[in-house]
Amino acid sequence: MKKSKPFPVPVRLGYSCRKCPAYCCTYEEIPVKARDIARLARHFGIEPAQAEARFTRLDEKGEARVLRHRKDEVFKTACMFLDRESRQCTVYESRPAICGDFPGGTRCGYYDFLKFERKHQEDPEFIALT
Ligand code: SF4
Ligand code: SF4
Repeated sequence: MKKSKPFPVPVRLGYSCRKCPAYCCTYEEIPVKARDIARLARHFGIEPAQAEARFTRLDEKGEARVLRHRKDEVFKTACMFLDRESRQCTVYESRPAICGDFPGGTRCGYYDFLKFERKHQEDPEFIALT
């Protein structure tokens, strides 16, 4: 007998990136692999070597490529691909795998912290700085 496909179980996420100032995009060193660089290169229609030079730098140890940062109005710096006003990723469909994997579960510690602070301050727009 043909096995019927199980219905996908909807997952309720305990966080909303749309309401967050993007804490996770402010990590100083967001590592990228060759395939992430190749995807970004395709996104911009350039060669991987150009993408590597434009969008990445070496980490502090000089061993791995990480995303470049630029000045940010909310935090000190943030990933160069973060829209500083909307707080959304400008390369969402082509973002590095590590970005898509974060936070790795149904909850985000940053978002819990943000929600707690907003409730405490009685201000739904409050941006808690880490
Ligand atoms: S810190 Fe958490 S809630 Fe905020 S953008 Fe990143 S994953 Fe989304
Ligand atoms: S590529 Fe996008 S999701 Fe990843 S850190 Fe940069 S802005 Fe955030």
